Amino acid sequence: MRLANQYTSLPARFFATMVAQPVREPRLLRLNVNLARQLGLDVEWLETEAGAAFLAGAAFPEGMQPVATTYAGHQFGQFVPQLGDGRALLLGDGIDREGRPYEIQLKGSGPTPYSRRGDGRAALGPVLREYLVSEAMAALGVPTTRALAAVSTGESVVRERMKPGAVLARVASSHLRVGTFQFFAAREDHDGLRILADFAIQRHYPELVDRDDRYLAFFDAVVSAQARLISQWMSLGFVHGVMNTDNMAISGETIDYGPCAFLDEYDRRKVFSSIDQTGRYAFSNQPDIGFWNLTRLAECLLPLIDPDSDRAVAVIKPVLLAFPSRFSAAFEARMQAKFGLLTKRENDLSLVSEFLDRLEKAHADYTLSFRQLSVAPAALDAIEGLAAWRMRWEARLAKEEGGLDAALDRMRRVNPAVIPRNHRIEAVIAAAEKGDMAPFETMLAAVTRPFCDDADYETPPTQAERVRETFCGT
Ligand code: AMP
Ligand code: MG
Ligand code: MG
Repeated sequence: MRLANQYTSLPARFFATMVAQPVREPRLLRLNVNLARQLGLDVEWLETEAGAAFLAGAAFPEGMQPVATTYAGHQFGQFVPQLGDGRALLLGDGIDREGRPYEIQLKGSGPTPYSRRGDGRAALGPVLREYLVSEAMAALGVPTTRALAAVSTGESVVRERMKPGAVLARVASSHLRVGTFQFFAAREDHDGLRILADFAIQRHYPELVDRDDRYLAFFDAVVSAQARLISQWMSLGFVHGVMNTDNMAISGETIDYGPCAFLDEYDRRKVFSSIDQTGRYAFSNQPDIGFWNLTRLAECLLPLIDPDSDRAVAVIKPVLLAFPSRFSAAFEARMQAKFGLLTKRENDLSLVSEFLDRLEKAHADYTLSFRQLSVAPAALDAIEGLAAWRMRWEARLAKEEGGLDAALDRMRRVNPAVIPRNHRIEAVIAAAEKGDMAPFETMLAAVTRPFCDDADYETPPTQAERVRETFCGT
């Protein structure tokens, strides 16, 4: 096993080189064998003791040079000029079987120069949580980091109580963030900024490399990728929970599964994260926050666009301002599909918004309601106003090719039956902390087949089971 590491070709101020840190008893809990094969990794070796030590960050094969990358970021709107991989390690990179670039990162493998007051560790619970949610997102077709492996360390980490430690190996097309650009912009390090932007373009948009307007084209591509990504979150009822600029990936992949959650009952203003006091990252705020974060990225890129900052602003602003309409177009297309609509007609948007209003008033479960609409729409007549609504919706579908039946078929392929609900994740974690990984395996199998009916995992939580608050860094 050996990975290259393109990041080490960047100037030294971009990262800190790291050595292996011993782990008491690394044990492989789960290897994503399909993903490992897709990446061209040696599955048999990863399943050995040496493989587990490698995936825990405790031993690196000769010639590999893992690094902790440096970045900055706005956390809840406050700029922090120095963040960085405080408990993550960029092991290296490669090209997968389809020719796409990837990076492997460990999360929880020990302190780095960027750990600040943190211990550099991760507890088993959040590692399994990220594994389940990121793999569910991938199965739902959402761009995301992937879970490659979970390893237990045999060590305890100190949280509100002692918890078993673990390390997650995750994969992304890159871990470059808006905050990586902010790090250099804040230091007025324009050379660093240009080197970073060229690196990002080479990796994600190689077709732009030779263009004179490549930095603008790069920004344009990031704006589109985020518009598409956030439209998917919004259509699925996903709340990221901590959309700080250091948690927004340039690649347009969902990254950093901390206090994230899927909505149970539909509530546009829903906030789960215990530290999100003001509701900055509430469900319905996500598109606006996406725009805010992209504005920060635009500011960083100004000196690369034109040395004259007024001219640079004039050039980049129209691209930034395209975000809201790109988001709306992407979101409307996703909502249309959720209702089985193939074509656009005048009153479609009011049909959509009335349905959502009725769900919200009735505190109905978001995912289950759309699934019922796709399987047995009459079941929703119990919700006030939806019986009459359904007559209009069905009349509308009659105008589409194939009518209602064909529409329901399509809808079952976009409205998931199974999402990784927090109350089930908590049960999985409780069992795993006692050494029982069987519930994790069962749940992983269910959430990675999200469009298959599953009587057990479809059921929303009862009032008593409902998880109302989530935590990060635990
Ligand atoms: P996050 O909120 O997870 O995006 O993390 C924000 C910053 O805190 C990043 O620089 C992380 O690397 C760092 N961080 C979070 N948890 C820890 C920890 N347990 N030890 C060290 N650094 C951490
Ligand atoms: Mg982060
Ligand atoms: Mg995090």
